Amino acid sequence: MSVGLEKTERVEDIPHTDANSERLCIQSCESGEQDSFKDLKLASQTILETLQQNGRSKCPKCLSSRMFYCYSCCLLVDGVNSDEIPQVKLPLKIDIIKHPNETDGKSTAVHAKLLARDDVNIYTYPCMPDNEEEKHEVVVVFPGPKSISFEDLPMHLSKLANEKSNLLKYSSKNIHSHEASLTLEGPEHKRAKYDDKDQGRTEEQDVGETKTKISPLKRVIFIDSTWNQTNKIITDERLQELLHVELRTRKTCFWRGQKGKPDTYLATIEAIYYFLVDYHRLLLKENYNGEYDNLLFFYSFMYRLINKAKLAAGKLN
Ligand SMILES: [Zn+2]
Repeated sequence: MSVGLEKTERVEDIPHTDANSERLCIQSCESGEQDSFKDLKLASQTILETLQQNGRSKCPKCLSSRMFYCYSCCLLVDGVNSDEIPQVKLPLKIDIIKHPNETDGKSTAVHAKLLARDDVNIYTYPCMPDNEEEKHEVVVVFPGPKSISFEDLPMHLSKLANEKSNLLKYSSKNIHSHEASLTLEGPEHKRAKYDDKDQGRTEEQDVGETKTKISPLKRVIFIDSTWNQTNKIITDERLQELLHVELRTRKTCFWRGQKGKPDTYLATIEAIYYFLVDYHRLLLKENYNGEYDNLLFFYSFMYRLINKAKLAAGKLN
């Protein structure tokens, strides 16, 4: 079920610099207020209302009886066309690594796959995506002792990119001096070697220029597992070389609270959503206008359903 962040400080103690981040649910979760998601820009949820009123339908593949989608097959139930469900275009690829013992029905990872099918892939551990990109192009979202805060991410990414760029320059000079030219490809490399304008530049000038460059991330990895099971995945050597990032100031609305865990441990879909909102605003430096809100299409609907049921049962004030 969950990924996200570990609470090291009280959320109220952390100054919010992000007005949008507060609009979602931070206070309303605590008070049990029903409409935590009222400010989201969501597609019409009429189809979900209809499905819910009609009761369960069948999964077109495994024929199991399901409400909105089949969490085992990652498919919408019979009778629902994919164009009745919003599709979100993401600014990067998302890989979700699922623990094999994680109960599919409790996971919200499938929401991401259904709502952004071109950009999301789900793997069952020990299967993992190949990390083919450069180290400054991929991060893992996970709260742990070696995790950095999102706010520090640009600095760390630019540091990694600089290291890479300096390494390239170093190899370029070495190769040049050994007259082994044209063995490395890439316009940057060639320019470093052959462009006359570059001659006479100092090392400091080059480093100064690269410092300001932050290339956008290509991929983000999330771990979909109960907190007790994540350790095995996060300590896997294939994830050790990558930057680990945590989202420290978000609170969960998840209705399946985990015993003994703080409310800043997010459900997977919440972690993905919050990560993207922060990424959009802090790294891409663009105004956020609800571009990824539909990732919470199922989540917000289910949250309201559960709250309604709890209210009816007298479990909420
Ligand atoms: Zn199925």
